[in-house]
Amino acid sequence: MTYRSTVAGSLPKPAWLAETGKLWPQWRLSGDALVEAKRDATILAIEEQSHAGIGCVSDGEQARVHFVHGFLQGLEGIDSERKQRRFIRDGRYEADCPTIVGAVRRPAPVHVAEVAAARAFARGPLKFTLPGPMTIVDTLYDEHYRDRKTAAFAFAKLLNEEMRDLVAAGVDVIQLDEPAFNVFFDEVDDWGIDALDAAFDGIAVRRAVHVCYGYGIEANIKWKSELGAEWDQYAHIFPFISRSCVDEVSIELANSHVPPHVLGGLKDKDVAVGCIDVANDRIETADEVRATLALAARYVAPERLIASTNCGMAPMNRTIAYAKLHALGAGADAFAAIAP
Ligand code: ZN
Repeated sequence: MTYRSTVAGSLPKPAWLAETGKLWPQWRLSGDALVEAKRDATILAIEEQSHAGIGCVSDGEQARVHFVHGFLQGLEGIDSERKQRRFIRDGRYEADCPTIVGAVRRPAPVHVAEVAAARAFARGPLKFTLPGPMTIVDTLYDEHYRDRKTAAFAFAKLLNEEMRDLVAAGVDVIQLDEPAFNVFFDEVDDWGIDALDAAFDGIAVRRAVHVCYGYGIEANIKWKSELGAEWDQYAHIFPFISRSCVDEVSIELANSHVPPHVLGGLKDKDVAVGCIDVANDRIETADEVRATLALAARYVAPERLIASTNCGMAPMNRTIAYAKLHALGAGADAFAAIAP
């Protein structure tokens, strides 16, 4: 399967569905009305992406409250009401994290309904995102396993069960989001890649991992401003990711201090290159997207490049986000027209 453009994952939710501009918004509706509104928003997200010329569309994560906690809310063993404040991402910021109170279980498929809605309207390949095992563990307060690796493998097993249901429902690409990979280099090497591969074990669709510098929220912008003139995180972890089973690696490049030569470390993986800055409301031009792809093509064979966004767009202004996606689609086409 080939496609020239995709999105990292989330898209802004309509104001009639949830609070806007927030990473963890309150729903505007409840009960059956909420179920129907989530489906409507999913269909709209698919149509908007198609209209923007995005080749591989996502459900826009319209039906989940947060990129990690959507999946977790469908599991047993986690008390989402009992949030405990802790520093996450190696002390980058504090968050109120639900508590693991017992062995985790998946009593039923979590995301099949939105995949069914998205599949019915997507004309081409459909991508679905789930949080990766390490990022899940780093976004919870653990009172049960009390060991990050053990907990990660427990979640990898449940992710694998979920993926099998999503494949049956018609997804073409499954992406695990692992922003925590960019922080815990030793753990990525020790068990993070093994947990990622365990989650993907036997999954017969395209497998992707997304590693970024985070949403455009204040804590991340501050963190990035302290990382110096050249960000070396990818240089540390790409050798580990290269030995994983994933087919595609989704990364941040636009407006970053990522030295583009590090992309050469991804060996035989396809690379979804972030050509759209999600921490900035300025709308890129198609030519800027094309230029970002051309920069990446100095280190990755052009046929292995996919135009994407730096990260999810959930907290952004919706009109601006879709304007950026139009630039992304047009820029990817412009690059394909001249790529060797
Ligand atoms: Zn991201």
